Formats: sequence, structure tokens, C-alpha cells
Amino acid sequence: MSITRFDEPAAAEFRADVATWVRDALPKKWQTSRASLTPDEVQQAQREWDAALHTAGYAGLSWPSEYGGRGFGPIEELIYYEESSRANAPDGFGRIGRVLAGPTIIAAGTEAQKAKYLPRILDASEIWCQGFSEPGAGSDLASVTTTAKKVDGGYLVNGQKIWTSFAQYSKRCLMLVKTSSDLPRHHNLSFLLLDMEQEGVDVRPIRQINGEEEFSEVFFTDVFVADEDLVGEEHEGWRVAMTVLSNERGTTEAATRLVEATAQIDLLNRCCASNSRLDAARLDDRRELLRWHILRSTEEKAAELDWFQAGSILKVQWSELIQDSTRLGLDSGCSVHRDYWRHHYLASKAMSIYSGTNEIQRNIITDRVLRVAR
Ligand SMILES: Cc1cc2nc3c(=O)[nH]c(=O)nc-3n(C[C@H](O)[C@H](O)[C@H](O)COP(=O)(O)OP(=O)(O)OC[C@H]3O[C@@H](n4cnc5c(N)ncnc54)[C@H](O)[C@@H]3O)c2cc1C
Repeated sequence: MSITRFDEPAAAEFRADVATWVRDALPKKWQTSRASLTPDEVQQAQREWDAALHTAGYAGLSWPSEYGGRGFGPIEELIYYEESSRANAPDGFGRIGRVLAGPTIIAAGTEAQKAKYLPRILDASEIWCQGFSEPGAGSDLASVTTTAKKVDGGYLVNGQKIWTSFAQYSKRCLMLVKTSSDLPRHHNLSFLLLDMEQEGVDVRPIRQINGEEEFSEVFFTDVFVADEDLVGEEHEGWRVAMTVLSNERGTTEAATRLVEATAQIDLLNRCCASNSRLDAARLDDRRELLRWHILRSTEEKAAELDWFQAGSILKVQWSELIQDSTRLGLDSGCSVHRDYWRHHYLASKAMSIYSGTNEIQRNIITDRVLRVAR
């Protein structure tokens, strides 16, 4: 039986267990010298963390037990993400598999797909990436032009994806592709599980403003995907893609970011914004509002109520809170924490873009939450 409210004593007990485990399991080098680790050492730590999560049973917390998960609910999952972020634990390379690929295959995949892919997502022996965005199809995702042409036994994929996070480490990709040029929009796309380690897949990492190479552009030339790796009905991949996006904009991402915002606002209050406390206090109010919003949405999710629309509101709230906090940190001119604020301010610029831009989230809020006619 899962926890259904945050004020249950079981929630506090679970939180204490997670906090103790995270503290003991964190790779030592990550705890003591994260900033000076080489890219190879960072990779090593991410992989060690994936393995530790699997061994301790934290990899599939909310997955059903028949698929190797713990069968917990959204509250336990959220508590895990809060505590691991509080301890600055790595995400692990397996996060896209655990949070996006696994739940999507569980919801829409065949039993054969579940048996083939889920165990290797849980132990992170196969890393996944998300091949949705293209140079001409980001916000307007339904306009993807990467095609999958039907051939004997499967499909041949041709085209280009971009901003594909962790593509260079990935064995598998969640692909949204066009399978018909005649059928109407939203009914002309299919959802495929593509093997990245085959002829015709060309991954070219992109260097970011902070020097890291988190994402890549990926080119596909006659890449084969077998019929068994189609998820859902042919041409009805849009619906499957929506499952992915709802998980991406969910409460666990918001909880992770809330912890990040809390650390920044605490630092502003304690040190950097000592000359402009009023602004930092306003951020603190927004942080508290975000916290209540996350708690309420998660309890609604645990009670199987309709929480989905909250995703767009949460995404706008946390991304803009972190952007405003880091900007205030930079503007404070604090000499002790200048490098910290510079790094986090630059990193925050991406937050209003990925998982669907904030402009698009505002459109969704207008149309589907407020139902304002435009
Ligand atoms: C760090 C990072 C990681 C990412 N990882 C992945 C990944 O792993 N896989 C993946 O598939 N994608 C990934 N993305 C891509 C991301 O989903 C897209 O960048 C995003 O959806 C926006 O698409 P675009 O970049 O093509 O911008 P565009 O869609 O071209 O938008 C440009 C600007 O126009 C605005 N705009 C567009 N349409 C409207 C409208 N109708 N109303 C109002 N404003 C509008 C947008 O808000 C934006 O400001 C990642 C992006 C980032 C920054």
C-alpha cells in the first residue's frame, strides 16, 4: 500500500531511510570534489550511481513489481527525488530510461517490449535518449519530418534529430517519426524504439555555453527498426509521445528543481542579497507557493485524480524562479559566490526551453487550464 498523504508518519520514515541511504551510497569523490572531477570521472560517477540505485531498489520506485519495480506511489517517488537532490546526488545516465522510456513502455508497450527493455533500463546496462526535436520541429513537435518508411519486417528511418540529450552514451532512442504524408496531422506519426548502435546513426555532440556537451544532433540514414519495436498503433505515435511529455513535466522534476531553488534562495538570504533582502523575500514566497503546488499535485496523483494540467504550471514556476534567483545572485556582486552564480545563471537559461518552452506552456495553460478563448 503506497503513501497517499505527505503528513502520514510513514512518509517521514521513508524520507529518513532515503536520506540515510543517499548519504552512505554517494560516491566519495562526488561528495568531496565534484567541481574538480574530469569529464571521465563524472561519467564514472554517473554510472556508479546508476548501479547503486539498481542494487538498492531505488531505480524503479514507482514501477509495478511485476516489472521489477518497488510498486510505490508518486509520494515515495517524490520523496526520493527531494532527498537525492538535497544531497546533490548525480542523476545517473539512466534517468531518461527510468523516468521517460520505462513508464512509457509500461503504459503503451507490448509484453515482449516490456520483457526485452525494462530489466536493462532498471540496471542501466542500456542508456536511453529522446529523439523528438528536429531543426524544424521543436515547439511545433507534430511537424517532425524524420520519416520511417515501411519495409519488409519493419521500417527504414531517415532524417535528423537535434538537442538529443545523452545521445553519445545511448544504446536506445525513443523516436517520434513521420509514417504517412497523407493522413491528418497528429495521426501521421509513429513511435519507435531505435537501436543507436547500428550502421547509419551519426551522433555529433554540440558544445554548450558552459563548455559541456550534454546534447547532440543525430543523423539517421536507412536505419532499420523492426516491427516489434513500434509502440502503440502505427500512425498513432502522437498519443504515446504525450505520455513521455507528461512524465517529463511531472512533479518529480519540479521537486528536484525546488530543492535547487531552495539552496539558491537560502544563499541569497544568508549572504549574497544582504543589501536587497526585499527581493530575496519575494523569491522565498514564490518558492513556498511552488512547494505547496507540488505537494498538492502529487497527492492528487497518488489519489488518481486529474493532476496532468498542473505540469505546465509547475514547469513555468520552477524555471522562472531559478532564473530570477540566479539573476539576483549575479546582480548582488557577491565576490565570494560569483563563480557559483555565473555557472547556475548560465545553466538556468536552458530551463525555460527544454521540456517544451515556457511560451508553449503558457499557451497550454491559457487553452486547457483557464480555457480562455483566443
Ligand atoms: C538543455 C536542453 C535539452 C534538450 N533535450 C532534448 C532531448 O533530449 N530530446 C529532444 O527531443 N529535445 C530536447 N530539447 C529540445 C527542446 O525540447 C526544444 O528546444 C524546445 O521544444 C523548443 O523547440 P525549438 O528549440 O525548436 O524552438 P522553436 O520551437 O523554434 O521556438 C523558438 C521560440 O519561439 C517560441 N514559439 C514557438 N512557437 C510558439 C507559439 N505557438 N506561441 C508562442 N511562442 C512560440 C518558443 O517559445 C521559442 O521562444 C532540449 C533542449 C534543451 C535546451
